[in-house]
Amino acid sequence: MNNEKLEPKNEGFPGSDKPCLCNEKARLMTGSVPLSIFSSKITVHHVPYYFCDHCKRTYFDSVTEIDVVLKRAYQLGLSEIDYVAGLSQFIYKIELLHELKLSFEQVLLINSRDIAPGEEFAVVHNNQVVVGYREEDCFVIENVIDKVI
Ligand SMILES: [Zn+2]
Repeated sequence: MNNEKLEPKNEGFPGSDKPCLCNEKARLMTGSVPLSIFSSKITVHHVPYYFCDHCKRTYFDSVTEIDVVLKRAYQLGLSEIDYVAGLSQFIYKIELLHELKLSFEQVLLINSRDIAPGEEFAVVHNNQVVVGYREEDCFVIENVIDKVI
């Protein structure tokens, strides 16, 4: 399913430059970047990064918290993830089993760009429905409905 070649893909949002280790300029871009964590390869989509055309180095700003996003994708067993700043935040207003959390966090992360801030959502999983809403970059989980007819 993910057979894109391992080359950063720019989506055309050039911004300010920063100096690269090779003394050329690395350009600020937003796009898909293939990364590795442990033995897994994970492509992060829609992520801001700096890329040097000269030496092909890729840099991330520390505010991007790429390590947090990467770790979460790894824990969830994803080979790709949609980058949303601060997406490590899931706020639970109810008690939930760990496996259930992981299952629908995975669904939410894959579909995160379809859920606008303030928008409500429902995730169906194993005859249960988890409902919540997105608040800025957080997902607030409000309730689980056990009876789905
Ligand atoms: Zn360079």
